[in-house]
Amino acid sequence: MATEGKASEERISQFDYDLLPELSTLLGIDAVQMAKEMEENEEKIRAKMQKGFNSQMRSEVKRLKTFVTYESFSSWIPSEMAAAGFYFTGVKSGIQCFCCSLILFGTSLRKLPIENHKKFRPHCEFLLGKDVGNIAKYDVRVKNPRKKLRGDKARYRNEETRLESFKNWPFYAHGISPHALSAAGFIFTGERDTVQCFSCGGCLGDWEEGDSPWKEHAKWFPKCEYLQSKKSSDEIAEYIESYKGFVDVTVN
Ligand SMILES: [Zn+2]
Ligand SMILES: [Zn+2]
Repeated sequence: MATEGKASEERISQFDYDLLPELSTLLGIDAVQMAKEMEENEEKIRAKMQKGFNSQMRSEVKRLKTFVTYESFSSWIPSEMAAAGFYFTGVKSGIQCFCCSLILFGTSLRKLPIENHKKFRPHCEFLLGKDVGNIAKYDVRVKNPRKKLRGDKARYRNEETRLESFKNWPFYAHGISPHALSAAGFIFTGERDTVQCFSCGGCLGDWEEGDSPWKEHAKWFPKCEYLQSKKSSDEIAEYIESYKGFVDVTVN
């Protein structure tokens, strides 16, 4: 990623310095000096924090959940921060972008999270709308096939052939192995992380680490012939059963 590794080299100042002299007079303190000291402290903490693309935090719902322990008199609300790519780090009041790893401690009355994100990281690929695997709050896992199955359906009966389709599997979805996906009947469509079953034609995307391709196949396309040829009806029922509580974890 082009945006990686720069976080420790830059200086991030979130204070509205033009307002501080007025504040100093009002409170009888040296607000400029205080702000500088705070920023130096934050800079030290920031330097120690982990940087780099955080594949675990691609899901907006997951990011939102991190704010459960966020205690702050922030002028920003968690849903705005999560939508702008941020999750709560648990370190002081630090929030971090899953893509460019920008860390912000303060919030601003004048600017929204997305605006501060743009100000400090104009080249963040998430902000630029590139495919970095963001899973938006209302994204639906089942995708519509954009086109008919590529090539001959019979050709993809062969697991090796399915595996070959995963050559350009996106970097952010590496937590899910092409081997597991192709074994479960899927081929890569070439769009985002959307895969399609050669047998039932069902399309699934938004893969996250820990997902099971067979379980997802069974949950969404239980009537698939290939699935039924590989798994017993008891196994399929178990897979579907394992999704009890599914509504709880996805609706937010
Ligand atoms: Zn970013
Ligand atoms: Zn299928």
